[in-house]
Amino acid sequence: MISSANSIPNDAHLHSDVCVVGGGPAGIALTLTLAQQGISVLLLESGFLKEDADTQALYNGEVVDERMHSPPDKYRQRRMGGSSTIWGGRCMPFDPVDFENRAHVPDSGWPISYADVLPYYPAANAWAEAGRFSYQAPEAFGSGALPMIPGFVSTTVSTDGLERFSCPTDFGKRYAKRLQVEPRVRVLLGANCTAVTLQRDGRSVKELQVKTLAGSRFRVTARSTVLAAGGLETARLLLASQDVTPQGVGNAHDVVGRYYMCHIAGNVGMLTLQGWPRDIRHGYEVSPEGIYCRRRISVTASEQRRLGLANAVARLHFPRITDPAHRNGVLSGLFLARRLISYEYSKRLNDGNTNNASTYVRHLMNVVTDPRDTTAFLAHWIRKRSLAHRKFPSVILHNRTNRFSLEVHGEQYPLRDSRLTLTDKRDALGMPQVKVDWRYCRDDIESVKRTLDVIALEISRSGVGKFEYNHSTLEEELMRFGAYGGHHVGTTRMGTDLRTSVVDPDCQVHGVRGLFIAGSAVFPTSSQANPTLTLIAMALRLADKLSANLRADKHVVMPGAFA
Ligand SMILES: Cc1cc2nc3c(=O)[nH]c(=O)nc-3n(C[C@H](O)[C@H](O)[C@H](O)COP(=O)(O)OP(=O)(O)OC[C@H]3O[C@@H](n4cnc5c(N)ncnc54)[C@H](O)[C@@H]3O)c2cc1C
Repeated sequence: MISSANSIPNDAHLHSDVCVVGGGPAGIALTLTLAQQGISVLLLESGFLKEDADTQALYNGEVVDERMHSPPDKYRQRRMGGSSTIWGGRCMPFDPVDFENRAHVPDSGWPISYADVLPYYPAANAWAEAGRFSYQAPEAFGSGALPMIPGFVSTTVSTDGLERFSCPTDFGKRYAKRLQVEPRVRVLLGANCTAVTLQRDGRSVKELQVKTLAGSRFRVTARSTVLAAGGLETARLLLASQDVTPQGVGNAHDVVGRYYMCHIAGNVGMLTLQGWPRDIRHGYEVSPEGIYCRRRISVTASEQRRLGLANAVARLHFPRITDPAHRNGVLSGLFLARRLISYEYSKRLNDGNTNNASTYVRHLMNVVTDPRDTTAFLAHWIRKRSLAHRKFPSVILHNRTNRFSLEVHGEQYPLRDSRLTLTDKRDALGMPQVKVDWRYCRDDIESVKRTLDVIALEISRSGVGKFEYNHSTLEEELMRFGAYGGHHVGTTRMGTDLRTSVVDPDCQVHGVRGLFIAGSAVFPTSSQANPTLTLIAMALRLADKLSANLRADKHVVMPGAFA
């Protein structure tokens, strides 16, 4: 059942087996999976089925340097479905190496392994509507698989890795009906959890404090509580919950909000390939079950270990859109139309060097002199993107020259000083706002540089082309837009050492029985991969743990435990 929190009487006290805070991909997958296992769940979602400006404003906050990180109300959505209402849908699992304790990546190492998460990935793929759990081209395409770059052979660089694309699925819309009809689920919209109140000994949760923007408040007590409010908000909620522990819940060692990671990303260099342009697989291929897939270039795990590299991938990409020197009508059209595109998708079309009349004129000339491509692109976009259910994932251009930039997406080193804190400013519900101080380090740039060196060497050794870039501008290229938006990782990281982690291998907050976290906040490292598939897999793993715990607990109230 889905209803409004405004229907709950002021000062009411609700009870449930499990209470989940946050109805994004993590919270929704967790809630419905628990319900299927016979557990009743109360899902508190701050937002509504549609965007609401006052609710979104609860995400307002500060950033230390806006060139390095977007304001906290951007790149996340406070409404049913969370940020999946605007995500790009790119799915891929983390790699086994991401879970390892790597001496060259300080503070790396998960207390669980890839094998612990692997059983949950196929179901996570299904939740994201990304087809089979098959991320290698030969396996996914079978005998129809063609090489990404004909003639390229290497034992240290792979071009077989795939990313798969979700519709992209808006979890709020897609799963609303199931949430509505599932008898063991109760969803309250407009229900903002403003604090986690602990028992006096600080060792378990007493209740959650919930407020609505209409002015009412109520409490919730559950046997297990899961915070699934997103990578920034979950940390904010713990830090702001100071009734029993003044430093915040789970924060005895000042770790909550620290080790905040995004991804290191940017377009770099120029790769010139030989052969026929049509033989290079730089765009989307469709898998036998109809899923858009794209190849990536990656350095093998053994070579990463041998050379001491962080994990990163590269895709074949078109030149930087903002520079009209590309002479491409479609790219210039995108540049000129950027004000019509949302902040999140136009940010990388505004690099600060382009606001002069001559740049505009050159872009305009590109559009005017390239009418054939521009019109063909528009027709394709309307048919395959605007009108399609499963949307063509992004702009891909015919490449007639066989020249590409490389679009890098890499993990960043976990840094204790990269962090969120609370400010004195409060939101409309009285909660302190968040301040984001995102940092990166020299090793992040150095590791990407050395990864590109390996790729360049193997491309040249294979005799299929050459990659050139200017090392001196690499940092500028990677930091041109600061942190890659939307991937909020590590603020309540998993571990066994209380001085460097917030949750244990079961995602339970250290020392607080019954309080769990779902979402990318628990990842100790960020991988090359986008986070959502893995955070869904981890939420499904958590569902199994909670379900087993609750079944073992004879006092559990099931089913229909709402009171
Ligand atoms: C523009 C953009 C593109 C992206 N593209 C990709 C991509 O291609 N691939 C990928 O893997 N990831 C992508 N992401 C990231 C992806 O959207 C997130 O990883 C994912 O949505 C996180 O899911 P979540 O459930 O953990 O958190 P969220 O989606 O943030 O959901 C959290 C939920 O909690 C609710 N909430 C917050 N605070 C409270 C509170 N106090 N009380 C009650 N409810 C609360 C919110 O309203 C929200 O519904 C993208 C993100 C953006 C912004």
